[in-house]
Amino acid sequence: MITVENLTKRYGSTTAVQDVSFTVRPGSITGFLGPNGAGKSTTLRMLTGLTPPTSGLATIDDRRYVDLPNPGRVVGVMLDAAAQHPGRTGRETLLLNAGLLGAPKARVDEMLEAVGLSHAAKRRVGQYSLGMRQRLGIASALLGDPAVLILDEPANGMDPEGIRWMRGLLQDFAARGGTVILSSHLLGEVQATVDRLVVIGNGRIVADGPLDQLLAGSGTLVRGLDPAGLADALSAAGLQPESLPDGSVRVDATPEQVGRAAAAAGQILLELRQSDGAGLEDLFFQLTSAPAAA
Ligand code: ADP
Repeated sequence: MITVENLTKRYGSTTAVQDVSFTVRPGSITGFLGPNGAGKSTTLRMLTGLTPPTSGLATIDDRRYVDLPNPGRVVGVMLDAAAQHPGRTGRETLLLNAGLLGAPKARVDEMLEAVGLSHAAKRRVGQYSLGMRQRLGIASALLGDPAVLILDEPANGMDPEGIRWMRGLLQDFAARGGTVILSSHLLGEVQATVDRLVVIGNGRIVADGPLDQLLAGSGTLVRGLDPAGLADALSAAGLQPESLPDGSVRVDATPEQVGRAAAAAGQILLELRQSDGAGLEDLFFQLTSAPAAA
Protein backbone atom coordinates (compact mmCIF):
# COMPACT_ATOMS: atom_id res chain seq x y z
CA MET A 1 0.00 0.00 0.00
CA ILE A 2 1.18 3.50 -0.85
CA THR A 3 0.37 6.28 1.60
CA VAL A 4 1.06 9.94 0.87
CA GLU A 5 0.32 12.31 3.74
CA ASN A 6 0.40 16.10 3.45
CA LEU A 7 3.38 16.15 1.10
CA THR A 8 4.70 19.57 0.21
CA LYS A 9 7.72 20.46 -1.93
CA ARG A 10 8.98 23.97 -2.41
CA TYR A 11 11.82 25.02 -4.69
CA GLY A 12 12.67 28.55 -3.58
CA SER A 13 9.53 30.57 -4.18
CA THR A 14 7.94 27.82 -6.37
CA THR A 15 5.61 25.40 -4.62
CA ALA A 16 5.71 22.30 -6.85
CA VAL A 17 3.51 20.15 -4.58
CA GLN A 18 1.19 21.51 -1.90
CA ASP A 19 -0.26 19.41 0.93
CA VAL A 20 -0.89 16.32 -1.21
CA SER A 21 -2.48 13.25 0.42
CA PHE A 22 -3.80 10.01 -1.11
CA THR A 23 -3.52 6.24 -0.74
CA VAL A 24 -3.18 3.43 -3.26
CA ARG A 25 -4.39 0.04 -2.06
CA PRO A 26 -3.40 -3.46 -3.15
CA GLY A 27 -5.39 -4.82 -6.08
CA SER A 28 -5.79 -1.36 -7.56
CA ILE A 29 -4.35 0.61 -10.47
CA THR A 30 -4.46 4.31 -9.71
CA GLY A 31 -3.98 6.89 -12.42
CA PHE A 32 -2.11 9.98 -11.20
CA LEU A 33 -3.38 12.50 -13.65
CA GLY A 34 -2.55 16.12 -14.30
CA PRO A 35 -1.23 18.47 -16.97
CA ASN A 36 2.50 19.00 -17.49
CA GLY A 37 4.00 20.88 -14.56
CA ALA A 38 1.19 19.85 -12.17
CA GLY A 39 3.54 18.14 -9.71
CA LYS A 40 3.24 14.45 -10.67
CA SER A 41 6.95 13.68 -11.09
CA THR A 42 7.87 15.65 -7.98
CA THR A 43 5.35 13.63 -5.94
CA LEU A 44 6.63 10.33 -7.37
CA ARG A 45 10.23 11.38 -6.74
CA MET A 46 9.40 12.13 -3.10
CA LEU A 47 7.64 8.76 -2.87
CA THR A 48 10.77 6.99 -4.13
CA GLY A 49 13.30 8.84 -1.99
CA LEU A 50 14.87 10.82 -4.86
CA THR A 51 13.67 14.22 -3.64
CA PRO A 52 13.33 15.06 0.06
CA PRO A 53 9.93 16.58 0.87
CA THR A 54 9.78 20.05 2.42
CA SER A 55 7.15 18.56 4.73
CA GLY A 56 4.87 15.53 4.89
CA LEU A 57 5.46 11.81 4.64
CA ALA A 58 5.26 9.18 1.87
CA THR A 59 5.41 5.49 2.72
CA ILE A 60 5.28 2.15 0.94
CA ASP A 61 3.94 -0.63 3.15
CA ASP A 62 4.32 1.72 6.11
CA ARG A 63 7.99 2.45 5.48
CA ARG A 64 9.71 5.34 3.78
CA TYR A 65 11.44 4.28 0.56
CA VAL A 66 14.84 5.20 2.01
CA ASP A 67 14.20 2.86 4.96
CA LEU A 68 13.50 -0.20 2.78
CA PRO A 69 16.47 -2.59 3.02
CA ASN A 70 16.21 -3.84 -0.59
CA PRO A 71 13.69 -1.44 -2.16
CA GLY A 72 13.58 -3.16 -5.57
CA ARG A 73 12.13 -6.25 -3.90
CA VAL A 74 9.23 -4.20 -2.49
CA VAL A 75 8.60 -1.59 -5.15
CA GLY A 76 9.35 -1.46 -8.86
CA VAL A 77 10.02 2.05 -10.11
CA MET A 78 10.19 3.57 -13.57
CA LEU A 79 10.60 7.32 -13.48
CA ASP A 80 12.46 8.18 -16.66
CA ALA A 81 12.57 5.50 -19.32
CA ALA A 82 14.68 7.71 -21.60
CA ALA A 83 17.49 7.83 -19.02
CA GLN A 84 18.77 4.28 -19.63
CA HIS A 85 22.37 4.01 -20.79
CA PRO A 86 22.27 4.04 -24.63
CA GLY A 87 25.45 1.99 -25.07
CA ARG A 88 24.24 -1.14 -23.26
CA THR A 89 21.97 -3.74 -24.73
CA GLY A 90 18.55 -4.33 -23.22
CA ARG A 91 19.73 -7.62 -21.73
CA GLU A 92 22.89 -6.04 -20.25
CA THR A 93 20.77 -3.30 -18.67
CA LEU A 94 18.56 -5.85 -16.97
CA LEU A 95 21.50 -8.09 -15.95
CA LEU A 96 23.12 -5.14 -14.21
CA ASN A 97 19.91 -4.30 -12.36
CA ALA A 98 19.33 -7.96 -11.46
CA GLY A 99 22.82 -8.06 -9.95
CA LEU A 100 22.06 -5.00 -7.80
CA LEU A 101 18.81 -6.56 -6.63
CA GLY A 102 20.14 -10.05 -6.08
CA ALA A 103 17.58 -11.38 -8.56
CA PRO A 104 18.42 -14.59 -10.46
CA LYS A 105 19.75 -14.24 -14.03
CA ALA A 106 16.90 -16.40 -15.32
CA ARG A 107 14.52 -13.62 -14.28
CA VAL A 108 16.13 -11.33 -16.89
CA ASP A 109 15.11 -13.50 -19.83
CA GLU A 110 11.71 -14.10 -18.28
CA MET A 111 11.10 -10.35 -18.02
CA LEU A 112 12.41 -9.66 -21.54
CA GLU A 113 9.85 -12.20 -22.74
CA ALA A 114 7.10 -10.73 -20.53
CA VAL A 115 7.53 -7.26 -22.03
CA GLY A 116 7.93 -8.48 -25.61
CA LEU A 117 11.59 -7.52 -26.01
CA SER A 118 13.24 -10.95 -26.43
CA HIS A 119 13.85 -10.23 -30.11
CA ALA A 120 15.65 -6.96 -29.27
CA ALA A 121 17.53 -8.17 -26.18
CA LYS A 122 20.93 -7.88 -27.90
CA ARG A 123 20.32 -4.47 -29.47
CA ARG A 124 21.74 -1.36 -27.85
CA VAL A 125 19.19 0.69 -25.93
CA GLY A 126 20.27 3.74 -27.95
CA GLN A 127 18.61 2.10 -30.96
CA TYR A 128 15.35 1.44 -29.09
CA SER A 129 12.23 3.52 -29.74
CA LEU A 130 10.75 5.34 -26.73
CA GLY A 131 8.03 2.68 -26.55
CA MET A 132 10.70 -0.06 -26.38
CA ARG A 133 12.50 1.85 -23.64
CA GLN A 134 9.25 2.04 -21.71
CA ARG A 135 8.92 -1.74 -22.04
CA LEU A 136 12.51 -2.18 -20.83
CA GLY A 137 11.81 0.17 -17.92
CA ILE A 138 8.77 -1.90 -16.95
CA ALA A 139 10.85 -5.10 -17.19
CA SER A 140 13.44 -3.51 -14.94
CA ALA A 141 10.76 -2.45 -12.43
CA LEU A 142 9.41 -6.01 -12.35
CA LEU A 143 12.82 -7.71 -11.93
CA GLY A 144 12.72 -7.89 -8.13
CA ASP A 145 9.19 -9.35 -8.18
CA PRO A 146 7.81 -6.39 -6.19
CA ALA A 147 4.18 -6.04 -5.03
CA VAL A 148 4.11 -2.29 -5.73
CA LEU A 149 4.76 -0.50 -9.04
CA ILE A 150 5.37 3.23 -9.49
CA LEU A 151 5.47 4.30 -13.13
CA ASP A 152 5.89 7.88 -14.37
CA GLU A 153 4.20 8.42 -17.77
CA PRO A 154 4.64 4.77 -18.87
CA ALA A 155 2.34 5.19 -21.87
CA ASN A 156 4.41 8.07 -23.25
CA GLY A 157 5.75 7.09 -26.67
CA MET A 158 3.80 3.84 -26.82
CA ASP A 159 1.58 3.06 -29.77
CA PRO A 160 -2.03 1.91 -29.18
CA GLU A 161 -0.94 -1.74 -29.32
CA GLY A 162 1.73 -1.03 -26.66
CA ILE A 163 -0.81 0.71 -24.44
CA ARG A 164 -3.18 -2.26 -24.80
CA TRP A 165 -0.35 -4.66 -23.92
CA MET A 166 0.61 -2.61 -20.85
CA ARG A 167 -3.03 -2.48 -19.74
CA GLY A 168 -3.18 -6.29 -19.75
CA LEU A 169 0.12 -6.62 -17.88
CA LEU A 170 -0.84 -4.11 -15.16
CA GLN A 171 -4.35 -5.50 -14.77
CA ASP A 172 -2.89 -9.02 -14.27
CA PHE A 173 -0.44 -7.56 -11.75
CA ALA A 174 -3.23 -5.85 -9.80
CA ALA A 175 -5.48 -8.92 -10.02
CA ARG A 176 -2.77 -10.85 -8.18
CA GLY A 177 -2.91 -8.27 -5.36
CA GLY A 178 -0.36 -5.79 -6.72
CA THR A 179 -0.51 -2.05 -6.07
CA VAL A 180 0.05 0.25 -9.06
CA ILE A 181 0.30 4.00 -9.49
CA LEU A 182 0.98 5.39 -12.95
CA SER A 183 1.04 9.01 -13.98
CA SER A 184 -0.21 10.54 -17.18
CA HIS A 185 -1.05 13.96 -18.59
CA LEU A 186 -3.75 12.46 -20.85
CA LEU A 187 -7.05 11.23 -19.43
CA GLY A 188 -7.84 9.16 -22.53
CA GLU A 189 -4.50 7.34 -22.30
CA VAL A 190 -5.22 5.84 -18.86
CA GLN A 191 -9.01 5.80 -18.65
CA ALA A 192 -9.30 2.17 -19.78
CA THR A 193 -6.41 0.98 -17.59
CA VAL A 194 -7.01 2.46 -14.14
CA ASP A 195 -9.73 1.87 -11.55
CA ARG A 196 -9.01 4.96 -9.47
CA LEU A 197 -7.90 8.47 -10.28
CA VAL A 198 -5.99 11.02 -8.28
CA VAL A 199 -6.07 14.30 -10.24
CA ILE A 200 -3.49 16.99 -9.51
CA GLY A 201 -3.45 20.58 -10.76
CA ASN A 202 -0.99 23.31 -9.81
CA GLY A 203 0.48 21.11 -7.08
CA ARG A 204 -2.84 20.35 -5.36
CA ILE A 205 -5.18 17.36 -5.47
CA VAL A 206 -8.40 18.38 -7.20
CA ALA A 207 -10.16 14.99 -7.47
CA ASP A 208 -9.62 11.57 -5.92
CA GLY A 209 -11.85 8.53 -6.16
CA PRO A 210 -12.95 5.46 -8.07
CA LEU A 211 -12.92 6.07 -11.82
CA ASP A 212 -16.58 5.16 -12.29
CA GLN A 213 -17.64 7.57 -9.54
CA LEU A 214 -15.57 10.41 -10.95
CA LEU A 215 -16.88 9.75 -14.45
CA ALA A 216 -20.43 9.60 -13.11
CA GLY A 217 -19.83 12.68 -11.02
CA SER A 218 -21.72 14.91 -13.40
CA GLY A 219 -25.14 13.59 -12.31
CA THR A 220 -28.07 12.27 -14.27
CA LEU A 221 -29.41 13.07 -17.71
CA VAL A 222 -33.15 12.80 -18.18
CA ARG A 223 -35.50 13.49 -21.10
CA GLY A 224 -39.28 13.62 -20.80
CA LEU A 225 -42.31 13.90 -23.08
CA ASP A 226 -43.06 17.29 -21.49
CA PRO A 227 -39.70 19.01 -20.82
CA ALA A 228 -41.17 22.02 -18.99
CA GLY A 229 -43.43 19.85 -16.83
CA LEU A 230 -40.49 17.58 -16.02
CA ALA A 231 -38.29 20.52 -15.01
CA ASP A 232 -41.10 21.79 -12.73
CA ALA A 233 -41.50 18.35 -11.18
CA LEU A 234 -37.79 18.09 -10.45
CA SER A 235 -37.69 21.61 -8.93
CA ALA A 236 -40.74 20.76 -6.79
CA ALA A 237 -38.80 17.74 -5.48
CA GLY A 238 -35.97 20.02 -4.34
CA LEU A 239 -33.62 19.13 -7.22
CA GLN A 240 -31.99 21.72 -9.43
CA PRO A 241 -32.62 20.83 -13.06
CA GLU A 242 -30.44 22.36 -15.74
CA SER A 243 -32.18 22.38 -19.13
CA LEU A 244 -29.89 21.51 -22.04
CA PRO A 245 -30.33 22.76 -25.64
CA ASP A 246 -31.42 19.31 -26.89
CA GLY A 247 -34.47 19.31 -24.58
CA SER A 248 -32.92 16.99 -22.01
CA VAL A 249 -32.27 17.98 -18.42
CA ARG A 250 -29.16 17.46 -16.28
CA VAL A 251 -29.57 17.04 -12.53
CA ASP A 252 -27.02 16.63 -9.72
CA ALA A 253 -28.76 13.58 -8.28
CA THR A 254 -28.87 9.83 -8.81
CA PRO A 255 -31.05 8.31 -11.57
CA GLU A 256 -33.25 6.82 -8.82
CA GLN A 257 -33.89 10.22 -7.19
CA VAL A 258 -34.74 11.72 -10.58
CA GLY A 259 -36.95 8.77 -11.58
CA ARG A 260 -38.88 8.96 -8.30
CA ALA A 261 -39.41 12.72 -8.59
CA ALA A 262 -40.71 12.29 -12.15
CA ALA A 263 -42.97 9.38 -11.18
CA ALA A 264 -44.43 11.31 -8.25
CA ALA A 265 -45.51 14.04 -10.69
CA GLY A 266 -46.78 11.58 -13.31
CA GLN A 267 -44.13 12.67 -15.84
CA ILE A 268 -43.46 10.28 -18.72
CA LEU A 269 -39.72 9.68 -19.24
CA LEU A 270 -38.13 8.93 -22.60
CA GLU A 271 -34.57 8.60 -21.28
CA LEU A 272 -32.89 8.35 -17.86
CA ARG A 273 -29.17 7.71 -17.46
CA GLN A 274 -26.05 8.65 -15.60
CA SER A 275 -24.24 11.51 -17.28
CA ASP A 276 -21.07 10.34 -19.03
CA GLY A 277 -18.29 12.05 -17.18
CA ALA A 278 -18.42 15.39 -18.93
CA GLY A 279 -17.61 16.82 -15.49
CA LEU A 280 -14.24 15.13 -15.33
CA GLU A 281 -13.46 16.10 -18.93
CA ASP A 282 -14.41 19.70 -18.09
CA LEU A 283 -12.26 19.67 -14.97
CA PHE A 284 -9.33 18.32 -16.93
CA PHE A 285 -9.85 20.82 -19.70
CA GLN A 286 -9.83 23.68 -17.18
CA LEU A 287 -6.65 22.31 -15.61
CA THR A 288 -4.85 21.89 -18.90
CA SER A 289 -5.81 25.35 -20.14
CA ALA A 290 -4.78 27.05 -16.88
CA PRO A 291 -1.28 28.50 -16.61
CA ALA A 292 1.20 26.43 -14.58
CA ALA A 293 1.83 27.38 -10.95
CA ALA A 294 4.06 30.40 -10.59
P1 ADP B 1 4.71 17.06 -13.80
O1 ADP B 1 5.45 15.81 -13.51
O2 ADP B 1 3.27 17.01 -13.38
O3 ADP B 1 4.86 17.52 -15.22
P2 ADP B 1 6.71 18.31 -12.10
O4 ADP B 1 6.56 17.59 -10.80
O5 ADP B 1 7.83 17.88 -12.98
O6 ADP B 1 5.31 18.24 -12.88
O7 ADP B 1 6.87 19.85 -11.83
C1 ADP B 1 6.02 20.58 -10.94
C2 ADP B 1 6.52 22.02 -10.82
O8 ADP B 1 7.74 22.03 -10.07
C3 ADP B 1 6.81 22.70 -12.13
O9 ADP B 1 6.44 24.05 -12.01
C4 ADP B 1 8.33 22.55 -12.25
O10 ADP B 1 8.86 23.59 -13.02
C5 ADP B 1 8.77 22.65 -10.81
N1 ADP B 1 10.02 21.89 -10.55
C6 ADP B 1 10.18 20.54 -10.67
N2 ADP B 1 11.44 20.19 -10.35
C7 ADP B 1 12.10 21.34 -10.01
C8 ADP B 1 13.43 21.64 -9.58
N3 ADP B 1 14.36 20.69 -9.42
N4 ADP B 1 13.72 22.95 -9.31
C9 ADP B 1 12.81 23.91 -9.46
N5 ADP B 1 11.53 23.69 -9.86
C10 ADP B 1 11.17 22.43 -10.13
